[in-house]
Amino acid sequence: MHLICRRCSTRLTGELKMVPFDTRNEAVEENFLDCGTSMLAEKVFDHDDRAGNYIANIADGQHMKLTDDSRRLNGCCGLDGCDGPNLQCELCGTYVATKRTDCWTPHYIVFDQSTTQAMMSFGE
Ligand SMILES: [Zn+2]
Repeated sequence: MHLICRRCSTRLTGELKMVPFDTRNEAVEENFLDCGTSMLAEKVFDHDDRAGNYIANIADGQHMKLTDDSRRLNGCCGLDGCDGPNLQCELCGTYVATKRTDCWTPHYIVFDQSTTQAMMSFGE
């Protein structure tokens, strides 16, 4: 499957294989999950992340740009993602996801279910 922007249908991830939430890696400064995989958040696991949101590896994000809004770009060594979504759809500008890359967090992108949608690929 992959994720798209609900507003303009722009593709936001590469092809992802669903894996159980239990396989997550919560170590700080490490990838929360492997490249090419996605998991559904089953509970609130970090700040404002909500159950039911798709999580992906940083490397799998596509067609998204980092916001220019400095209030959403706080962090120590990277992005802490604590101030709302910081990634926008490259085409329509909708806030679609939050990137976390700070030194005290695992690293991942969490997609906002109100602005993104999962698309099943042929054969799945
Ligand atoms: Zn869009």
